[in-house]
Amino acid sequence: MKLARVTKKGNRSFYIEFLMMTLVPLIVCGIVMMFVCARSIEKGMTEEANDNLKGIAGAVLTAYDEAYPGDYSVKADGDDIILYKGKETVSGKYELLDGIKKGSRQEISIFYYDTRLLTTLSDAEGNRMIRTIASERIVDDVFKNKMSMFYDNVSINGVNYHAYYEPIMSSVTGECLGMIGVAKPVTELKENINRAVTQNIIVMVLAILITSFFITRFAGTLVMIVKLMLDFMKSLSDNKLDAKLDARVVQREDELGEMGRNLNSLQISLRRLIERDVLTGLFNRRSAEKRIDAIEDSGVRYCVAIGDIDHFKKFNDTFGHECGDVVLREVAHLLNEGMNKREGFVARWGGEEFLLVFVNVDLDEAKDALMIIRQALHDKDVEYDGQIHKVTMTFGLAEKEKGVAINHLIRAADDKLYEGKQGGRDRVVV
Ligand code: GH3
Ligand code: MG
Ligand code: MG
Repeated sequence: MKLARVTKKGNRSFYIEFLMMTLVPLIVCGIVMMFVCARSIEKGMTEEANDNLKGIAGAVLTAYDEAYPGDYSVKADGDDIILYKGKETVSGKYELLDGIKKGSRQEISIFYYDTRLLTTLSDAEGNRMIRTIASERIVDDVFKNKMSMFYDNVSINGVNYHAYYEPIMSSVTGECLGMIGVAKPVTELKENINRAVTQNIIVMVLAILITSFFITRFAGTLVMIVKLMLDFMKSLSDNKLDAKLDARVVQREDELGEMGRNLNSLQISLRRLIERDVLTGLFNRRSAEKRIDAIEDSGVRYCVAIGDIDHFKKFNDTFGHECGDVVLREVAHLLNEGMNKREGFVARWGGEEFLLVFVNVDLDEAKDALMIIRQALHDKDVEYDGQIHKVTMTFGLAEKEKGVAINHLIRAADDKLYEGKQGGRDRVVV
């Protein structure tokens, strides 16, 4: 069914089917992996940013505690609110905060209660955004409930920040005095994440492209091998039994290579079945005719002999058909041996008639060869069922002459054979 489909549509469908089988899962897996990786990159980078914000908050608090020991407090000075740390005023003193901002590139604010009194944030005019109030949600979570919190999206002066807020506790009373907030613009974090995700996508797409390239090449090779086998099978089915299967198929050590080797064995079996006679293993009449045609086409000189077993009917009648078969096989073997090392071939021409073709010899040389063969047959003891039997053969020989048709040549050999039979058998007649 599958093969029929391939043969019908050509190898194209098999190729596409193979690519679908491999490339589609690869691409689907690649896309899923890209999504999973993008999610985990986003999660990982957000966590890293959170750790960073938290670390900066801790560093700021420690730096202020070391520089100005004691709790935060405020005093009103006219319209102004002055922030103190221990005994010293810290309002307006920005060396520490700006230094940390420079190193970390994050915005830092220190709130007293809910009011921003120290900050690295500036408004559009470049003024520090002091005395601004934290959002109600942050005040509730951090200041009132004394919880450290991360926020994805805190809007400060129209800019969205990814921020961390931590309560500042009094070392004396344990009360919450205010908050520290560290913030990073959301766009900056998103840009970093997008850059990392894009790099990841590029690497994955490249990996998919390289893998696809190899899959396509691999599929191409497989399809080429299948095509070579198909072409070979087509030649066999077109009766071109001399076709040769490409060595690239047979050399493979996988199942395709084995299929190729089996096809070669099939070709040998087919040739045997079509070209050879089952009983004797000699070429049959059909392939003998083809071979004579080929010799004729090559233009070389050749002689044709027809040999016929003497009184074979009687032999069969006396000793049985099976014994006759043994004789036929033995005769075939002896004829083949006689032709050994000579140019030409032997074929079973009919029931107990054999055709011998001598190539590149003249009539005398062919006759000499036939005489030796006839003598060998004459001397041969054929054993069957514990009994020794004797057989003889009569041969008629003719040489191919220019302009004479092959069937006339064979008829000439046949006529000579008839002469031999008339003349007493067991002889070669030229
Ligand atoms: P001659 O010397 O004139 O050739 O006499 P003959 O008996 O050999 O000639 P004839 O053509 O009358 O007989 C040929 C016999 O060969 C008849 C047939 O039974 C036998 N024969 C043909 N094919 C086979 C075969 O495959 N096996 C066996 N056992 N006998 C065969
Ligand atoms: Mg006969
Ligand atoms: Mg005979």
